[in-house]
Amino acid sequence: MDNKDMIPAIEGGKPVREVRIDYGRQWINQDDIAEVAKTLESDFITCGPKVDELEHRLQEYTGAKHAIMCCNCTAALHLAALAAGIGPGDEVITTPLTFMASANCALYCGGKPVFADVDINTYNIDPKSIREKITEKTKAVVAVDYTGQCCDFDEIRKICDEHNLILIEDAAHSIGSSYNGKVLNGKVGSYADLTCFSFHPVKTITCGEGGAVLTNNDEMAKKLRMLRSHGMERNHDLFIEECDENLEGIWYYEQQMLGFNYRMTDFQAALLCSQLNRLDSFVARRKEIVARYNEAFKDLDGIIVQKEIPESDTSRHLYMIRLDLSKLKCTRKQFFNAMSAENVQCQVHYVPVYWMPVYRKMGHKKGECPVAEEVYSGIMSIPLYPKLTDADVEDVIAAVKKLVNWYHI
Ligand SMILES: *Cc1c(COP(=O)(O)O)cnc(C)c1O
Repeated sequence: MDNKDMIPAIEGGKPVREVRIDYGRQWINQDDIAEVAKTLESDFITCGPKVDELEHRLQEYTGAKHAIMCCNCTAALHLAALAAGIGPGDEVITTPLTFMASANCALYCGGKPVFADVDINTYNIDPKSIREKITEKTKAVVAVDYTGQCCDFDEIRKICDEHNLILIEDAAHSIGSSYNGKVLNGKVGSYADLTCFSFHPVKTITCGEGGAVLTNNDEMAKKLRMLRSHGMERNHDLFIEECDENLEGIWYYEQQMLGFNYRMTDFQAALLCSQLNRLDSFVARRKEIVARYNEAFKDLDGIIVQKEIPESDTSRHLYMIRLDLSKLKCTRKQFFNAMSAENVQCQVHYVPVYWMPVYRKMGHKKGECPVAEEVYSGIMSIPLYPKLTDADVEDVIAAVKKLVNWYHI
């Protein structure tokens, strides 16, 4: 390296690479496109045979008894909260280090999100903090597998059982991960009361916009299906009221509860079925990249690596570096902008949910979850997606090392 290569691009040096890379990116191939095209030429383009096929395949992949496809994960979380019986006044405990949808699902039902703090090493919700936040009104826990790593589910399950709480797993990051605890075991989707997936383009597999809710509970599955489609029943044998002669035609469908239109289209399901064929290879490539990053950063003074727990066999959705700001003479924002100048686009996941104006108006205040705030102050997500080449990965590592070197005290 000559001198010029050591100077950050933001300070007038040469960037580590010319072509910009983003922190996440989908991978659509010709097979995916062909599957979508086939469905577009078929009889069904909204909820049809491909959605059925996808639900079966997700059940098979995860081991869950039921999978209900939805238009996105936010809708899936809303339906899960309703299936959990959340209503006005009920409290739902979740983490602040998440996308806001994990908490918003309680608000949609008139419930109240309560934020438990996170573990300083794993950044996942801390079971000890869950215990502290439980009241008479607590009804459910929304545990988020942050970055794809499973939460401490043995402990969380125990807490839920002791207090009669429903466990909802926001698995937007963790499709393909498994949990191997002492009590709970299995692929993500198979062990929580309700598990929600996202298929947004930055997530592990995608169909543009999409989600799913999984459960082993037959009653909940029935309710989820009904709520997904207006709360209506078409099967006359399952009507809850007698039909008089005005309603006896096959045209009649009975609305039994207030539902929504949260359905997925069949061409999205076709895309996702095709993506599902490559899920295991995507997961394997993500693991390779994570191993390389871990190796590169484990002894790099100034960078803190997220702790991995042995119980989680993790399909990592995000790779977080955490700056040890006591070792660096820059702010997170300066480091972030300097990475961007090196043509490596990072992102920060996430601003603590209760810092948002909507939550502040409800009385939440800065300082509520000090560990989450401390983690937030140093983190950024560096590029992680299967299409990254080994050379791309080395460029990202070079950029981080160059900046740590430059800004180190
Ligand atoms: C992406 C995401 C969601 C929302 O998913 P959509 O499919 O975009 O609605 C919810 N929770 C977490 C943790 C997410 O990352």
